[in-house]
Amino acid sequence: MLKVEFLVAGGIITNYKCSSKCRHCSYSSSPKWPDDYMTPDVADEIFSILKRLGCSSVHIGGGEPLLKPDRILDILDSAAKNGMDIEYIETNASWYRDEASAVNILAELKRHGVHTLLISIDPFHNEYIPFRKVKDLVRACSKVGLNVFPWQMEFWDEIDMLDENTTHSFDEYTKLFGKDYLLRLPAKYGLNMKGRAFVTYKPYMRMQPFEQIMREAGPCRLLSGLYHFHVDLYGNFIPQSCPGLAVPLKELVDGADTDKYRIFYNLDSAGVAGLAGLAMKEYRYIPKAEYAGKCDLCYDIRNHLVLGLGLDLPDLKPDGHYRYV
Ligand code: SF4
Repeated sequence: MLKVEFLVAGGIITNYKCSSKCRHCSYSSSPKWPDDYMTPDVADEIFSILKRLGCSSVHIGGGEPLLKPDRILDILDSAAKNGMDIEYIETNASWYRDEASAVNILAELKRHGVHTLLISIDPFHNEYIPFRKVKDLVRACSKVGLNVFPWQMEFWDEIDMLDENTTHSFDEYTKLFGKDYLLRLPAKYGLNMKGRAFVTYKPYMRMQPFEQIMREAGPCRLLSGLYHFHVDLYGNFIPQSCPGLAVPLKELVDGADTDKYRIFYNLDSAGVAGLAGLAMKEYRYIPKAEYAGKCDLCYDIRNHLVLGLGLDLPDLKPDGHYRYV
């Protein structure tokens, strides 16, 4: 049985759609995703379950959660109704148009119990969002009295060396800061190497023989992350560091059926070796000679199931994670 009895801190994902397609996005968000947004009913269900499990505050992320500023207000009302505090809302500032409209939106968020915006400050976002929008949004927050959680301040000076009115490619960053600029970022940023981040950095990873991975990789313990889990707009529990894998939160509370969620269960209990065994036996998966580590093997199998065989498996959700990478 797959069961969650206690959760401490996490986030909700109101939407996967985003204005940008950043190279480091572990959720593989982009403008291509469907226009789905969390409904108030789903939010009510999630918040009431989380409260019962001991979690009384969450952050809100996406995608870009403020792509639809009016839709987030219903989610904030639901949080208040269920006694759930909002730690912060993550945003990339792309929606900023002018001071008056931003101040209106921010004041409305504040009236709905939001105290802090986490604003993305990094070269990945700067490929899509001019730095001027970030600076203007920081100023608008201060005007309204909202706290800013800058993620991350240490990139500010580097981004600020380039024209703030336009976007900048990694070629420009490389010319300014050196050929290994992209490679130096993970240590500075604390990247989760999954989704599109994995695709970006895979060419630089060391290859390992398939047999070695099968021998050495242990269980992935997908339900052990009590401190940075996510629940998405479809009510799915997303493990701390492995998007693209999901089990409905409401089923995990009573104990989800391991036969229904075999991919998740195999990874949780037996790791990628368990998944590979299942995929070779039942899904015609043929392993390659080597992979860039256990998560490369894991993604190769999951891509085979979702994209190669076109299967609609309940624990490999949302399928956009695979389609829009
Ligand atoms: S092998 Fe798969 S489930 Fe395990 S940590 Fe890597 S991506 Fe996550």
